Amino acid sequence: MNKIAFFDSSHDLPEEIISAAGYIPYKILGDVHASNEPADQYLQNFFCPAAKSFFTEALHKSGDWSGIVVAQGCNTTNRHFDVWKMHIKTPFLYWFNAPVKNDEIALGFMKKEIKAFIDALESFFKVKIGDDKIRESIRVANEIKKLLQKLSAMRSTKDIPNRDYLQAILVTLQQNRMDAVASLEQISREWSARPAFPSGKKKALLTGSDVSYPEWMDTLDKCDVRVVRDDLSIGERYFSGLIPESGDPIESLARYYLNIPRPATKPGLRGRIEFLKSILRTTPIDGIVSQNLKFCEPFAYDSVSVNNALKEDGHKLIHFEREFTPVTDQQIVTRLTAFTETL
Ligand code: SF4
Repeated sequence: MNKIAFFDSSHDLPEEIISAAGYIPYKILGDVHASNEPADQYLQNFFCPAAKSFFTEALHKSGDWSGIVVAQGCNTTNRHFDVWKMHIKTPFLYWFNAPVKNDEIALGFMKKEIKAFIDALESFFKVKIGDDKIRESIRVANEIKKLLQKLSAMRSTKDIPNRDYLQAILVTLQQNRMDAVASLEQISREWSARPAFPSGKKKALLTGSDVSYPEWMDTLDKCDVRVVRDDLSIGERYFSGLIPESGDPIESLARYYLNIPRPATKPGLRGRIEFLKSILRTTPIDGIVSQNLKFCEPFAYDSVSVNNALKEDGHKLIHFEREFTPVTDQQIVTRLTAFTETL
Protein backbone atom coordinates (compact mmCIF):
# COMPACT_ATOMS: atom_id res chain seq x y z
CA MET A 1 0.00 0.00 0.00
CA ASN A 2 1.46 3.35 -1.02
CA LYS A 3 1.71 6.42 1.13
CA ILE A 4 0.31 9.88 0.62
CA ALA A 5 2.25 12.20 2.90
CA PHE A 6 0.74 15.28 4.49
CA PHE A 7 1.99 18.43 6.16
CA ASP A 8 -0.56 19.36 8.80
CA SER A 9 0.48 21.80 11.53
CA SER A 10 -2.52 20.76 13.61
CA HIS A 11 -5.21 18.12 13.02
CA ASP A 12 -6.95 19.78 10.08
CA LEU A 13 -6.64 17.26 7.25
CA PRO A 14 -9.37 14.60 6.96
CA GLU A 15 -6.83 11.82 6.60
CA GLU A 16 -9.73 9.32 6.50
CA ILE A 17 -10.23 10.30 2.85
CA ILE A 18 -6.67 9.17 2.05
CA SER A 19 -7.33 5.81 3.74
CA ALA A 20 -10.62 5.52 1.85
CA ALA A 21 -8.68 6.03 -1.40
CA GLY A 22 -6.57 2.96 -0.51
CA TYR A 23 -3.42 4.89 0.51
CA ILE A 24 -1.62 5.21 3.84
CA PRO A 25 -1.93 8.72 5.31
CA TYR A 26 1.63 9.53 6.42
CA LYS A 27 2.02 12.59 8.62
CA ILE A 28 5.32 14.33 7.87
CA LEU A 29 7.10 14.83 11.19
CA GLY A 30 10.67 15.52 10.12
CA ASP A 31 13.75 14.18 11.85
CA VAL A 32 15.21 16.12 14.73
CA HIS A 33 18.49 14.19 14.34
CA ALA A 34 19.04 15.32 10.73
CA SER A 35 20.47 18.69 9.74
CA ASN A 36 18.04 21.24 8.32
CA GLU A 37 20.75 22.50 5.99
CA PRO A 38 18.93 21.25 2.83
CA ALA A 39 15.82 23.25 3.79
CA ASP A 40 17.90 26.29 4.78
CA GLN A 41 18.83 26.72 1.11
CA TYR A 42 15.22 27.54 0.24
CA LEU A 43 13.58 28.87 3.42
CA GLN A 44 14.01 32.09 5.35
CA ASN A 45 15.40 31.94 8.88
CA PHE A 46 12.10 33.01 10.43
CA PHE A 47 10.39 29.70 9.58
CA CYS A 48 10.05 27.37 12.54
CA PRO A 49 12.67 24.59 12.64
CA ALA A 50 10.03 21.85 12.79
CA ALA A 51 8.60 22.89 9.43
CA LYS A 52 12.13 23.15 8.03
CA SER A 53 12.64 19.57 9.13
CA PHE A 54 9.38 18.55 7.38
CA PHE A 55 10.66 20.24 4.22
CA THR A 56 14.01 18.43 4.52
CA GLU A 57 12.18 15.12 4.89
CA ALA A 58 10.10 15.89 1.79
CA LEU A 59 13.24 16.77 -0.20
CA HIS A 60 14.72 13.39 0.69
CA LYS A 61 11.68 11.13 0.70
CA SER A 62 9.14 12.50 -1.76
CA GLY A 63 10.19 9.83 -4.26
CA ASP A 64 8.84 7.19 -1.85
CA TRP A 65 5.43 8.87 -1.61
CA SER A 66 2.59 8.79 -4.13
CA GLY A 67 1.79 12.40 -3.37
CA ILE A 68 1.77 15.18 -0.79
CA VAL A 69 -1.08 17.16 0.73
CA VAL A 70 -0.59 20.39 2.69
CA ALA A 71 -3.46 21.45 4.95
CA GLN A 72 -3.99 25.09 5.77
CA GLY A 73 -2.87 25.57 9.37
CA CYS A 74 -0.45 28.25 10.46
CA ASN A 75 1.26 30.82 8.24
CA THR A 76 4.09 28.33 7.77
CA THR A 77 1.88 25.83 5.93
CA ASN A 78 0.57 28.60 3.69
CA ARG A 79 3.98 30.02 2.80
CA HIS A 80 5.63 26.62 2.53
CA PHE A 81 3.17 25.40 -0.08
CA ASP A 82 4.54 27.82 -2.66
CA VAL A 83 8.13 26.80 -1.87
CA TRP A 84 7.27 23.09 -1.94
CA LYS A 85 5.62 23.58 -5.36
CA MET A 86 8.92 24.78 -6.76
CA HIS A 87 11.38 22.44 -5.08
CA ILE A 88 9.74 19.13 -4.07
CA LYS A 89 9.48 16.52 -6.78
CA THR A 90 6.13 14.76 -6.48
CA PRO A 91 3.48 13.76 -8.99
CA PHE A 92 0.63 15.06 -6.81
CA LEU A 93 0.87 18.15 -4.60
CA TYR A 94 -2.46 19.29 -3.20
CA TRP A 95 -3.56 22.22 -1.03
CA PHE A 96 -6.38 21.41 1.39
CA ASN A 97 -7.96 24.70 2.33
CA ALA A 98 -9.16 23.90 5.88
CA PRO A 99 -11.30 26.82 7.07
CA VAL A 100 -10.08 28.93 9.96
CA LYS A 101 -13.54 29.43 11.51
CA ASN A 102 -15.98 26.81 12.74
CA ASP A 103 -19.40 28.39 12.21
CA GLU A 104 -22.15 27.19 9.83
CA ILE A 105 -20.59 28.99 6.83
CA ALA A 106 -17.27 27.29 7.57
CA LEU A 107 -19.10 23.96 7.76
CA GLY A 108 -20.43 24.40 4.21
CA PHE A 109 -16.95 25.46 3.08
CA MET A 110 -15.36 22.41 4.71
CA LYS A 111 -17.82 20.03 3.05
CA LYS A 112 -16.98 21.54 -0.36
CA GLU A 113 -13.27 21.24 0.38
CA ILE A 114 -13.63 17.56 1.33
CA LYS A 115 -15.59 16.87 -1.87
CA ALA A 116 -12.95 18.69 -3.94
CA PHE A 117 -10.24 16.63 -2.21
CA ILE A 118 -12.12 13.41 -3.06
CA ASP A 119 -12.51 14.53 -6.69
CA ALA A 120 -8.80 15.34 -6.96
CA LEU A 121 -7.75 11.95 -5.55
CA GLU A 122 -10.26 10.05 -7.70
CA SER A 123 -9.20 11.83 -10.83
CA PHE A 124 -5.43 11.63 -10.30
CA PHE A 125 -5.14 8.13 -8.81
CA LYS A 126 -8.01 6.59 -10.81
CA VAL A 127 -9.80 5.33 -7.69
CA LYS A 128 -13.40 5.48 -6.52
CA ILE A 129 -13.96 6.85 -3.01
CA GLY A 130 -17.54 5.88 -2.23
CA ASP A 131 -19.46 6.60 0.97
CA ASP A 132 -19.00 2.95 2.04
CA LYS A 133 -15.20 3.33 1.93
CA ILE A 134 -15.29 6.63 3.84
CA ARG A 135 -17.58 5.07 6.48
CA GLU A 136 -15.15 2.17 6.93
CA SER A 137 -12.27 4.60 7.21
CA ILE A 138 -14.19 6.57 9.86
CA ARG A 139 -14.90 3.36 11.77
CA VAL A 140 -11.18 2.51 11.89
CA ALA A 141 -10.30 6.10 12.84
CA ASN A 142 -12.72 5.91 15.76
CA GLU A 143 -11.26 2.59 16.89
CA ILE A 144 -7.86 4.31 17.01
CA LYS A 145 -9.24 7.30 18.88
CA LYS A 146 -10.90 5.07 21.49
CA LEU A 147 -7.67 3.15 22.01
CA LEU A 148 -5.69 6.38 22.34
CA GLN A 149 -8.25 7.73 24.81
CA LYS A 150 -7.76 4.58 26.90
CA LEU A 151 -3.97 4.89 26.75
CA SER A 152 -4.11 8.59 27.55
CA ALA A 153 -6.25 7.95 30.64
CA MET A 154 -3.69 5.44 31.94
CA ARG A 155 -1.10 8.22 32.27
CA SER A 156 -2.66 9.37 35.54
CA THR A 157 -2.69 5.99 37.20
CA LYS A 158 0.17 3.95 35.69
CA ASP A 159 3.90 4.38 35.26
CA ILE A 160 3.88 5.62 31.66
CA PRO A 161 6.99 7.63 30.77
CA ASN A 162 6.29 10.71 28.63
CA ARG A 163 8.27 9.17 25.76
CA ASP A 164 6.04 6.07 25.68
CA TYR A 165 2.89 8.15 25.34
CA LEU A 166 4.34 10.22 22.51
CA GLN A 167 5.57 7.13 20.70
CA ALA A 168 2.14 5.49 20.90
CA ILE A 169 0.73 8.47 19.01
CA LEU A 170 3.61 8.73 16.54
CA VAL A 171 3.22 5.07 15.60
CA THR A 172 -0.38 5.82 14.65
CA LEU A 173 0.31 8.76 12.36
CA GLN A 174 2.63 7.14 9.87
CA GLN A 175 1.35 3.63 9.21
CA ASN A 176 -1.63 1.80 7.76
CA ARG A 177 -4.40 2.63 10.22
CA MET A 178 -5.52 -1.02 10.55
CA ASP A 179 -1.94 -1.91 11.57
CA ALA A 180 -2.07 1.01 13.98
CA VAL A 181 -5.10 -0.54 15.68
CA ALA A 182 -3.14 -3.75 16.24
CA SER A 183 -0.11 -1.80 17.55
CA LEU A 184 -2.24 0.21 19.97
CA GLU A 185 -4.05 -2.90 21.26
CA GLN A 186 -0.67 -4.44 21.97
CA ILE A 187 0.50 -1.27 23.78
CA SER A 188 -2.73 -1.20 25.79
CA ARG A 189 -2.19 -4.77 27.02
CA GLU A 190 1.39 -3.94 27.94
CA TRP A 191 0.53 -0.68 29.76
CA SER A 192 -2.26 -2.37 31.76
CA ALA A 193 0.41 -4.48 33.46
CA ARG A 194 2.60 -1.49 34.36
CA PRO A 195 3.14 -0.46 38.01
CA ALA A 196 1.19 2.40 39.60
CA PHE A 197 2.00 6.07 38.99
CA PRO A 198 5.42 6.74 40.58
CA SER A 199 5.17 8.65 43.84
CA GLY A 200 8.14 10.95 43.09
CA LYS A 201 6.67 12.39 39.89
CA LYS A 202 4.50 15.50 39.51
CA LYS A 203 1.39 15.39 37.34
CA ALA A 204 1.40 18.02 34.61
CA LEU A 205 -0.70 19.39 31.80
CA LEU A 206 1.38 20.07 28.69
CA THR A 207 0.28 22.83 26.32
CA GLY A 208 1.76 24.85 23.45
CA SER A 209 3.56 23.78 20.27
CA ASP A 210 3.48 20.17 19.19
CA VAL A 211 6.27 17.96 20.47
CA SER A 212 7.32 15.60 17.68
CA TYR A 213 10.36 13.81 19.14
CA PRO A 214 10.74 11.75 22.33
CA GLU A 215 13.98 13.30 23.60
CA TRP A 216 12.12 16.42 24.66
CA MET A 217 9.60 14.30 26.56
CA ASP A 218 12.58 12.65 28.29
CA THR A 219 13.68 16.07 29.52
CA LEU A 220 10.36 16.44 31.32
CA ASP A 221 10.78 13.02 32.92
CA LYS A 222 14.31 13.90 33.99
CA CYS A 223 12.81 16.81 35.91
CA ASP A 224 10.17 14.53 37.48
CA VAL A 225 7.39 16.02 35.37
CA ARG A 226 4.95 13.43 34.11
CA VAL A 227 2.53 14.65 31.46
CA VAL A 228 -0.89 13.21 32.27
CA ARG A 229 -2.97 15.58 30.09
CA ASP A 230 -2.22 17.76 27.07
CA ASP A 231 -3.92 19.72 24.31
CA LEU A 232 -1.43 19.05 21.51
CA SER A 233 -2.27 17.97 17.97
CA ILE A 234 0.18 15.10 18.35
CA GLY A 235 -1.75 14.35 21.50
CA GLU A 236 -5.25 14.71 22.85
CA ARG A 237 -6.52 17.00 20.09
CA TYR A 238 -6.18 13.98 17.76
CA PHE A 239 -8.54 11.80 19.79
CA SER A 240 -10.55 14.07 22.08
CA GLY A 241 -13.75 13.30 20.17
CA LEU A 242 -15.12 10.67 17.80
CA ILE A 243 -16.33 11.11 14.23
CA PRO A 244 -20.11 10.55 13.95
CA GLU A 245 -20.64 7.18 12.25
CA SER A 246 -24.24 7.70 11.10
CA GLY A 247 -25.53 10.00 8.37
CA ASP A 248 -23.62 11.55 5.50
CA PRO A 249 -19.92 10.69 6.05
CA ILE A 250 -18.70 13.94 4.46
CA GLU A 251 -20.91 15.98 6.79
CA SER A 252 -19.63 13.86 9.71
CA LEU A 253 -16.01 14.54 8.82
CA ALA A 254 -16.64 18.26 8.33
CA ARG A 255 -18.40 18.56 11.70
CA TYR A 256 -15.71 16.53 13.47
CA TYR A 257 -12.78 18.54 12.14
CA LEU A 258 -14.40 21.88 12.91
CA ASN A 259 -15.37 20.92 16.44
CA ILE A 260 -12.21 19.37 17.86
CA PRO A 261 -10.32 21.55 20.37
CA ARG A 262 -8.83 24.48 18.48
CA PRO A 263 -5.08 25.09 18.31
CA ALA A 264 -3.45 28.52 18.29
CA THR A 265 -3.18 28.18 14.51
CA LYS A 266 -6.92 28.92 14.30
CA PRO A 267 -8.79 31.84 15.83
CA GLY A 268 -10.91 31.29 18.90
CA LEU A 269 -8.77 31.82 21.97
CA ARG A 270 -11.73 31.43 24.30
CA GLY A 271 -12.44 27.87 23.08
CA ARG A 272 -8.83 26.91 23.64
CA ILE A 273 -8.85 28.26 27.18
CA GLU A 274 -12.17 26.53 27.91
CA PHE A 275 -10.81 23.18 26.71
CA LEU A 276 -7.76 23.56 28.97
CA LYS A 277 -9.97 24.52 31.90
CA SER A 278 -12.18 21.49 31.30
CA ILE A 279 -9.08 19.29 31.48
CA LEU A 280 -8.07 20.93 34.74
CA ARG A 281 -11.56 20.40 36.19
CA THR A 282 -11.57 16.68 35.38
CA THR A 283 -7.99 15.62 36.12
CA PRO A 284 -6.01 16.48 39.26
CA ILE A 285 -2.85 18.26 38.09
CA ASP A 286 0.14 19.56 40.09
CA GLY A 287 1.26 22.11 37.50
CA ILE A 288 1.10 23.28 33.90
CA VAL A 289 4.02 23.23 31.46
CA SER A 290 3.52 25.69 28.61
CA GLN A 291 6.13 25.80 25.86
CA ASN A 292 6.54 27.02 22.37
CA LEU A 293 9.04 26.03 19.77
CA LYS A 294 11.29 28.85 18.58
CA PHE A 295 9.57 30.77 15.73
CA CYS A 296 6.27 28.99 16.35
CA GLU A 297 4.45 32.32 16.32
CA PRO A 298 0.83 31.11 16.65
CA PHE A 299 1.51 29.54 20.02
CA ALA A 300 3.87 32.32 21.08
CA TYR A 301 1.11 34.91 20.46
CA ASP A 302 -1.50 32.83 22.32
CA SER A 303 0.61 31.85 25.28
CA VAL A 304 0.36 35.11 27.26
CA SER A 305 -3.45 35.22 27.24
CA VAL A 306 -3.87 31.47 27.74
CA ASN A 307 -1.34 31.28 30.55
CA ASN A 308 -2.72 34.34 32.34
CA ALA A 309 -6.23 32.85 32.23
CA LEU A 310 -4.98 29.60 33.77
CA LYS A 311 -2.88 31.37 36.41
CA GLU A 312 -5.86 33.54 37.39
CA ASP A 313 -7.61 30.27 38.31
CA GLY A 314 -4.79 29.56 40.76
CA HIS A 315 -2.81 27.02 38.73
CA LYS A 316 0.97 26.89 38.92
CA LEU A 317 2.49 27.30 35.48
CA ILE A 318 5.87 27.53 33.83
CA HIS A 319 6.38 28.83 30.30
CA PHE A 320 9.44 28.71 28.06
CA GLU A 321 10.58 28.75 24.47
CA ARG A 322 12.53 25.73 23.30
CA GLU A 323 14.84 24.79 20.45
CA PHE A 324 14.27 21.95 17.95
CA THR A 325 17.02 19.62 19.08
CA PRO A 326 17.37 16.19 20.68
CA VAL A 327 20.09 17.58 22.97
CA THR A 328 18.99 18.28 26.53
CA ASP A 329 18.74 22.00 27.23
CA GLN A 330 20.30 22.44 30.69
CA GLN A 331 18.70 25.86 31.21
CA ILE A 332 15.28 24.28 30.80
CA VAL A 333 16.27 21.44 33.13
CA THR A 334 17.28 23.98 35.80
CA ARG A 335 14.07 25.97 35.44
CA LEU A 336 11.83 22.88 35.38
CA THR A 337 13.57 21.38 38.39
CA ALA A 338 13.06 24.61 40.34
CA PHE A 339 9.43 24.64 39.21
CA THR A 340 8.73 21.08 40.36
CA GLU A 341 10.19 21.95 43.77
CA THR A 342 7.39 24.53 44.16
CA LEU A 343 4.63 22.01 43.41
S1 SF4 B 1 5.62 24.44 15.06
FE1 SF4 B 1 4.21 26.22 15.02
S2 SF4 B 1 4.90 27.49 13.30
FE2 SF4 B 1 5.82 25.43 13.05
S3 SF4 B 1 4.41 24.32 11.71
FE3 SF4 B 1 3.81 23.86 13.83
S4 SF4 B 1 2.23 25.40 14.36
FE4 SF4 B 1 3.30 26.12 12.49
